[in-house]
Amino acid sequence: MIETILNYPLSRDRLIDLLSSSGEEEKALFDYSTATKLKNVGNEVYLRGLIELSNICDKDCFYCGIRKSNNNITRFTLKYEEVIESVKYAYEKGYGSIVIQSGERSSRSFSDKIDKIIRESKKITNNNIGITLSCGEQSEETYLRWFESGADRYLLRIETSSEELYKKLHPKDTLHNYTNRRNALELLRKTGYQLGTGVMIGLPFQTTEMLADDLIFMRDLNIDMCGMGPYIEHTKTPLYKFREQLPITTVRLGLALKMISLLRILMPDINIAATTALKVLDQKATEKAIAIGANVIMPNITPLFYRKEYLLYENRSEPLFSFEDELALLEKRLETISHRIGYNKQGNSKHYTKN
Ligand code: SAM
Ligand code: SF4
Repeated sequence: MIETILNYPLSRDRLIDLLSSSGEEEKALFDYSTATKLKNVGNEVYLRGLIELSNICDKDCFYCGIRKSNNNITRFTLKYEEVIESVKYAYEKGYGSIVIQSGERSSRSFSDKIDKIIRESKKITNNNIGITLSCGEQSEETYLRWFESGADRYLLRIETSSEELYKKLHPKDTLHNYTNRRNALELLRKTGYQLGTGVMIGLPFQTTEMLADDLIFMRDLNIDMCGMGPYIEHTKTPLYKFREQLPITTVRLGLALKMISLLRILMPDINIAATTALKVLDQKATEKAIAIGANVIMPNITPLFYRKEYLLYENRSEPLFSFEDELALLEKRLETISHRIGYNKQGNSKHYTKN
């Protein structure tokens, strides 16, 4: 069966078939992506400590719980000192990298704050911590400024490569535009970042054909890293009314895993994250995603007090224990699939360093 996959070039039609696969064929796909992963990026998993900087957002995406029009949340921005404390914590615990994620904001004061955080984080870690930014669409000048201050990677999801679906999720007054998003990815590459994008999987109106096109989009953009995961509904968003059209949980999880598996086969040496949203569908989804293709995990290290206000979707899994115990548990879970954490390593994308 593995040979069957090997023999077929992964054309769009074949991707569509494999996204719909189940049983023996699905197992063969996962076996093949597992082997591809081990051969190209090994069994080490890199940690990125996720810091959710602010839930204030200028935009109004139809799916997101922190969209501008949601008046049911208390808006916050972490203090500079709180971010630096989190960075120190991450560094001391052996996280090789951090991710600074935020609602999209274009003010000069926001850009200045991120700039200061980047510089200080590099300074207090002797340049040893890797920094990924996920702060939405910014001007070319801002991308360059943050890069020159030391940011290494930028994650900006295209969300869906289908312009038609993109327009449904982001009508005009949400201030999003597909062409701008696409151009932002080009700008980020030109600036020099390790370039990351991704999509949501299992959205209302999304077809298997669109998901196959998402995979082709990421391959053609020649990305260095990917963070993609299932769409999870949130009651206080316009998309919630379409929840009955969503694939059932097991199908959504299966699709997300097959997307990871296929992307690993298409792009053997990139970094692929097992994203947090997966865990909403299945407690063991992280291990499942790592086993079949992902090699990055982003444990949330945002001070606990703020977490309840950064709900992009509902039923987000929250830590039951301390951060340390969570990490110990993660280690144990990874051992069950013969993987280990790459402590004190930035875990840069091999694809980027090679090119
Ligand atoms: N504001 C920046 C942006 O949109 O690029 C970065 C932060 S945003 C919260 C990060 C990602 O959250 C988005 O790219 C989107 O894919 C994801 N997200 C938002 N709402 C979601 C939902 N309901 N289910 C799953 N993922 C969601
Ligand atoms: Fe804002 Fe990002 Fe949420 Fe869109 S997905 S509303 S840009 S935080």
